[in-house]
Amino acid sequence: MRHGLGYDRHLPGCSALVVILHKCARRSAKPCPESVLTVPCDMLVFGGTGDLALHKLLPALYHLHRDGRLAAQTRILALARQPLSRADYQSLAERRCRAQVARADFDTATWQSFAERLDYFAMDVSQSADFGRLAKRLDSHERVQVYYLATAPDLFEDIAAHLATAGLAGPLSRIVLEKPIGHSLDSAKAINAAIGAVFDESRVFRIDHYLGKETVQNLMALRFANALFEPIWRAGHIDHVQISVCETLGVENRGAYYDRSGAMRDMLQNHLLQLLCLVAMEAPVRFDAEAVRDEKLKVLQALKPIHGLDVQDTTVRGQYVAGKIGGQEVPAYYFEKNVDNDSDTETFVALHAEIDNWRWAGVPFYLRTGKRLAKKSSEIVIQFKPVPHRLFNGGEANCLLIRLQPEERISLQLMAKAPGKGMRLEPVELDLNLAQAFQQKRRWDAYERLLLDVIEGDSTLFMRRDEVEAAWSWIDPILRGWHEYYQSPRPYPAGSSGPEQAHGLLERHGRAWHE
Ligand code: NAD
Repeated sequence: MRHGLGYDRHLPGCSALVVILHKCARRSAKPCPESVLTVPCDMLVFGGTGDLALHKLLPALYHLHRDGRLAAQTRILALARQPLSRADYQSLAERRCRAQVARADFDTATWQSFAERLDYFAMDVSQSADFGRLAKRLDSHERVQVYYLATAPDLFEDIAAHLATAGLAGPLSRIVLEKPIGHSLDSAKAINAAIGAVFDESRVFRIDHYLGKETVQNLMALRFANALFEPIWRAGHIDHVQISVCETLGVENRGAYYDRSGAMRDMLQNHLLQLLCLVAMEAPVRFDAEAVRDEKLKVLQALKPIHGLDVQDTTVRGQYVAGKIGGQEVPAYYFEKNVDNDSDTETFVALHAEIDNWRWAGVPFYLRTGKRLAKKSSEIVIQFKPVPHRLFNGGEANCLLIRLQPEERISLQLMAKAPGKGMRLEPVELDLNLAQAFQQKRRWDAYERLLLDVIEGDSTLFMRRDEVEAAWSWIDPILRGWHEYYQSPRPYPAGSSGPEQAHGLLERHGRAWHE
């Protein structure tokens, strides 16, 4: 039994979630079974002093340690250029974890036992000789070695090549790559080829932390473990789908990176397209890495190309100008640190995608993501078609809402009769309160689940090479279209819901963004 995602490969025809939901339903007063120890491993975090490592990975590893999921022999080695001692690094990590982990979950005794696993190694990943030193430092190659590349992608190729030269890429080793995998199809292919020359695909874990979110996996459970939705999950019953990832934050300390990337490359190419795949994919023949990713790939391949002038009708770019968020004045994007004063990088993108296949022909998928918007919220809205003949007055709900942020929740929005005389209808929410159903004390962070999967060698929730390349194949022509037709970003005030044109994208079809 594999407890990470909660499925059992040995139970015929069942996804784990089915098994666990079933068990929980029978023993609903008891909490769900939780995980056992993972195999002992060395977790090497390249970029160990960076934001991702300190803000996300170490807190996730701390939680796994606290919950008793890491084998006693598992060690964590952070690697970066700064000349820090082990004690320096441990106190840096403690400071950051204390700030990140909920107060009730952090205690000094647990931290001290966690810190015993934690070490630091100063090295420059562009220097082959440093990998020789690293090889000497790692005394055993007889166990799983996880190389987590929490560094800029332009270092990936060097790191993989140097690991191979130093004899550190044996069959028990795995490599984890953070998004973005390149900035175009060609650069993604180059990275994939360089990594593929050293690690076979089964040992490459391209992480998209959205896929580690419970609610995202529950979308698969909802679709493929319940017969209810399948007959209506298609054109004919679904009017349209919206996928929105809205942030209130700006570029923070990542101005230099973001200004070269923009919302399309940073968010849409990966997170939003992955969510789209999970909504639109066919049921895989099995719940395993190859079958699930085969189906996601087919969705990406069926995306209708957006070429040349099409970008003007189907996409909107935006860039925030000065405004107010939560009462605070915020500057325009082009005044952010490390951003060009005349930057035309988009901090917002909205587009109308279509999937040219039997299930989805003609159903619009509206995608949008942006920074410095009025509210932080990530959600998928499946809007069903209205009833064919209206008997009652009142609006229509008819939608399934899958919310990933700020809280994780799934709700079916239905019309119901308001109490009292007369048939006055109002929308009500049928809420799937999963945390309560499973008596969950604490929500898992996506990185916890995904780190466990890497240690266990399960790549179901990671992107395969061909998926990443298919996503870039669809994105590249849009980026080219923007360039060729000078589609400069439309300004929107920070704290608004994005440029007006993004509303126009739906309004012209008689629809509106779910707010
Ligand atoms: P960062 O700039 O904060 O950290 C980079 C790390 O790499 C630092 O530890 C730095 O010392 C190390 N480094 C750089 N050059 C090195 C070299 N030559 N040798 C050894 N170490 C070197 O960046 P970050 O925000 O942690 O992001 C890292 C990667 O993860 C980026 O590609 C980013 O896009 C991606 N990412 C970050 C987040 C996040 O929450 N920060 C989320 C998703 C993806």
